[in-house]
Amino acid sequence: MHEVGIITSMLHTVADIMEQEQLTVVEKIVLEVGELSGVVPHYMEECFPAAAYKTRFADTKLEIEVVPGIVKCNRCGLEFNGFQYDLRCPDCGNGKELTPLSGRELTIREIIGC
Ligand SMILES: [Zn+2]
Repeated sequence: MHEVGIITSMLHTVADIMEQEQLTVVEKIVLEVGELSGVVPHYMEECFPAAAYKTRFADTKLEIEVVPGIVKCNRCGLEFNGFQYDLRCPDCGNGKELTPLSGRELTIREIIGC
């Protein structure tokens, strides 16, 4: 599962931020995960305890905010949830000419610590 790798690199980023902000404990990490980012939020939550085990993040909570994967159909102009409709316009059937509007996020939104 590539989610473990993503969490590990995310924790590296958090560690850097901790150093910059001079934080010693992180209570909670809030992640923004887009539906079209290729990452499954559910797996992220499942993998987190294993990735954080025996690190300074062992007691850290992971909170995930899912960003809907909205795309716009370049043929008919319809905006729809690309995740839900499997990247195919429910109106005209177009599955190629789509512009992603949101849902590709994979970002650390907030770090709560002291
Ligand atoms: Zn369309």
